[in-house]
Amino acid sequence: MKAIVFDRHGGPEVLKYTEVPEPQLGARDVLVRVRACALNHLDLWVRGGLPGVAIPLPHIPGSDISGEVAKVGAEVKRVSVGQKVLLAPGVSCGRCAACLAGEDNKCPEFSNLGYIHDGGCAEFVRCPEVNCFAYPEKLSFEEAAAVPLVFQTAWHMLIGRAELQPGEEVLVLGAGSGVGSAAIQIAKFFGCRVIATAGSEEKLAKAKELGADETIHHHREKIREAVRKFTGKRGVDVVFEHVGTATWDDSVASLARGGRLVTCGATTGFDAKIDLRFLFSRQLSILGSYMGTKDEFATVLKLVASGKLKPVVDKILALAECRAAHEYLESGAQFGKVVLKV
Ligand SMILES: [Zn+2]
Repeated sequence: MKAIVFDRHGGPEVLKYTEVPEPQLGARDVLVRVRACALNHLDLWVRGGLPGVAIPLPHIPGSDISGEVAKVGAEVKRVSVGQKVLLAPGVSCGRCAACLAGEDNKCPEFSNLGYIHDGGCAEFVRCPEVNCFAYPEKLSFEEAAAVPLVFQTAWHMLIGRAELQPGEEVLVLGAGSGVGSAAIQIAKFFGCRVIATAGSEEKLAKAKELGADETIHHHREKIREAVRKFTGKRGVDVVFEHVGTATWDDSVASLARGGRLVTCGATTGFDAKIDLRFLFSRQLSILGSYMGTKDEFATVLKLVASGKLKPVVDKILALAECRAAHEYLESGAQFGKVVLKV
């Protein structure tokens, strides 16, 4: 089969479009003919290499996969050949206490397709049967592939971790990112007031189209001052963080008393400080969040299938153009998802 493979970590130039053997199936595995695979910032981290994470090489990246079932293992019961599927990205052991409690993103073996396991930047991908979810029929393969990781992650952050309440005020950083565009929609679905940030007028206009009530141009305005202005000096109840060092101080300073900051990433750096006096006297909560559960994925998919949440696709490229797609994602010019058509 054709696939995007890298055999060493590095820049986009390590990605090769080449011929590799089709994956072998275990008894409870499914072979999926990939039709579209959306990229994430995770793909850039995986390609570049992460300290302390051993990614088996050679490796096929790509976590967000839509396609059709091509083959099934001997014990597979829930899906059949020819069926359209959207894959949950998370792979876990299915046997530990966390998995049995439905918290598979806390499983010690938890990873994603395309992370430790070979992913969907290929004509075929192997996945466990439990990762196959009902296809949202109204969506194209490219739109469907734009859903899983970002909507599941944003849902787990806002609902699972920050316990967002209807009517609260939410600051969404980086509206142009996949998780940012998902977070705006989820917060609006819960009737919240959304303040979104981005680095261009064009992105701010798109954030408003997605439902953002107020927007902040983060190159021209100081985020904490703009938030103060929009909230009558109160601050927001929830800050949706994934930017890291560049925005951390503003994020903390933008919280109202009792506010919650939830973070799933640090694209600009891992170093952050916090003034403990500020933390305790204002009764703030700092919450870490990692991916999401299959149950949350199922919830998100129902809302996507009924049109209440919509995937945002910026650009569609061919599988062979994966390198150009990585370079584009690295440039930060996108609004929403970059998707490879397979
Ligand atoms: Zn487990």
